[in-house]
Amino acid sequence: MAPMMRAAVQEKPEKLVIGEVPVPEINDDEVLIRVKYTGICGTDWSIFTGKYSADKLPLIPGHEFSGVISQVGRNAAGLQEGDRVTADINMSCGHCFYCKRGKKLMCPGFTQLGIHTNGTYADYVKAPWELVHHLPDSVDFMTGAFVEPVSCIIHSAKAMNVEIGSSIAIIGSGLGILHAAVAKLRGAVPVILIGRNPLRLEAGREIGADIIIDTNKVNDPVAEVRKLTGGRGADYVVEAVGTPETYEQAFEMMRPGGTLGAFGITGIEDIVRLKAFDFVLGEKNIVGSCAGVGNDWTDAIALLEYRRIKPQVLFSLAVPLEDLEWALHELKVNKSLSKVFVSSELKKRNYLD
Ligand SMILES: [Zn+2]
Ligand SMILES: [Zn+2]
Repeated sequence: MAPMMRAAVQEKPEKLVIGEVPVPEINDDEVLIRVKYTGICGTDWSIFTGKYSADKLPLIPGHEFSGVISQVGRNAAGLQEGDRVTADINMSCGHCFYCKRGKKLMCPGFTQLGIHTNGTYADYVKAPWELVHHLPDSVDFMTGAFVEPVSCIIHSAKAMNVEIGSSIAIIGSGLGILHAAVAKLRGAVPVILIGRNPLRLEAGREIGADIIIDTNKVNDPVAEVRKLTGGRGADYVVEAVGTPETYEQAFEMMRPGGTLGAFGITGIEDIVRLKAFDFVLGEKNIVGSCAGVGNDWTDAIALLEYRRIKPQVLFSLAVPLEDLEWALHELKVNKSLSKVFVSSELKKRNYLD
């Protein structure tokens, strides 16, 4: 009989079942990884509620992870049992128009581990060996599970090409906080962080923001950003919320000639209204960014290794696998939580400070 493991299986929307499933079998090009931690992401909630991946169920979600290699396929070069790792979750066909141009996120066969294929809310996960990255000793497993979101921010910052000395306004106090940290690294000044969660805004100040705009207190963030930038608007704006309303605000608070980093994921059918007149006469740019790939991952690991980015201020809680569904709901209502991790090795909830 095949060896079994514990996993959280999304059987249908709103039905997440913790149970025994077979340990994944690897082929020559894959490795098997014993999962240490998985960070809960907004995408997991979208999968839970049926907004994403409903056609992929049953599915084991979970994609922001770290672990230890427990088995290597024959072709896996430079990887060994016992290695501490994470893995790029973005998989593509490797030979289409886009893959040949190094643009695998646009591949028609694009899939993501834990979103389209079985992920890491389990004892074990398998991954293509070529996508596996070693974690330096100084990067602990919890931080290792945070490489994926950092790689996404790095991908976005590179796409926008944020220049030293430029102003940037970031809307959103979720992953927006990390945008603030990376913008500071790129030499942007001032870094303006806009959001409505006071605790997270303060965390954002700790890791990179110069100015905080709390929208509970300021009801016109567009006017406020203009005031802070000589009346022009910011050189760069990042939308990291994902609603039409905040996209419209982002467009309005960007100066002529500025660049909007489109990062927040809206609903598939959502429409954002932009003034074409301003867009053309103001020569405004919009740069979309979907995920970290390739060296975005090695860059993220290096920045975490040398503590240029210190995301630990965001780490709130680690819970056993059994508490995944509880944690998904808790994240919706408990505004004191930022990042929550899941581990099948934990026996009880562990609040971090
Ligand atoms: Zn994620
Ligand atoms: Zn392809």
